[in-house]
Amino acid sequence: MTKTHSNCIKCLTKPADADSHVVPNSIRKRLYGEKKNASKKFSFSYVGRPDLPTQDFPKPKLMCRECDSKFGSDLEKTLPQLLMPADVDSPESWNELGLIPLDHGPFKDYPPKVKPLLKRNAALIAWKVMHAVARDGKAPDLSKFLHSPDGQALDREMLSFITQPDWKPSTISLKEPVLWKIEPKTAAALTREEDELPISWTVNYEPQQPKTAIIFAVFGFWIVGWQLPESTLSLHDQLAHWLLYIAKQKAASSQAV
Ligand SMILES: [Zn+2]
Repeated sequence: MTKTHSNCIKCLTKPADADSHVVPNSIRKRLYGEKKNASKKFSFSYVGRPDLPTQDFPKPKLMCRECDSKFGSDLEKTLPQLLMPADVDSPESWNELGLIPLDHGPFKDYPPKVKPLLKRNAALIAWKVMHAVARDGKAPDLSKFLHSPDGQALDREMLSFITQPDWKPSTISLKEPVLWKIEPKTAAALTREEDELPISWTVNYEPQQPKTAIIFAVFGFWIVGWQLPESTLSLHDQLAHWLLYIAKQKAASSQAV
């Protein structure tokens, strides 16, 4: 069997031949340092999936080059400065960003100008996670749902939310995507290393019910979550379960080495 590319998840017409960063590469560069940079601060550890590469953020084939780079220039380029101070070594400058810790709720008190951009970036990461999981063969019922008329309609609505700054709810009422900041000690608890930051993602849903999915991604000091409209599970409970799960996976794989 020859390996062929599926089509781009955005334009749906061209082959998905780009290596898409689910989490923007600019985040990795700013926080972790370039690979050959002597002043590199952190390495990172993809937790919960020992089969994935550890030297770079995973890059599934999701989009054509054009769509992938358009997201980069239109939206993702805004994210590093929203999440990180220019000087990542200064605790004070982190505080000045005004990011709200996980247990204080998402987006609270964000400057109004910044909030829509954060939401759309969070949604973009979650949307890519959903497709990455559907494409990696581990969630056949999610993949089937995304090929169904209902799944396709939902997918296009999610895409509109991401691409249109003036998006308004239509027949499909999307839930708000969320973005949380986690404390460095929480990040370290996930990787079990002070100088290793977590990156991982998941799509959780009730058995055979992909339309009830909650999508999560953790990267560095941030967590993104997006519930599909028919999701009935509790966002916080599901997040707590998943974080516990990846911490245990990491502990098990550390012991195995
Ligand atoms: Zn495309």
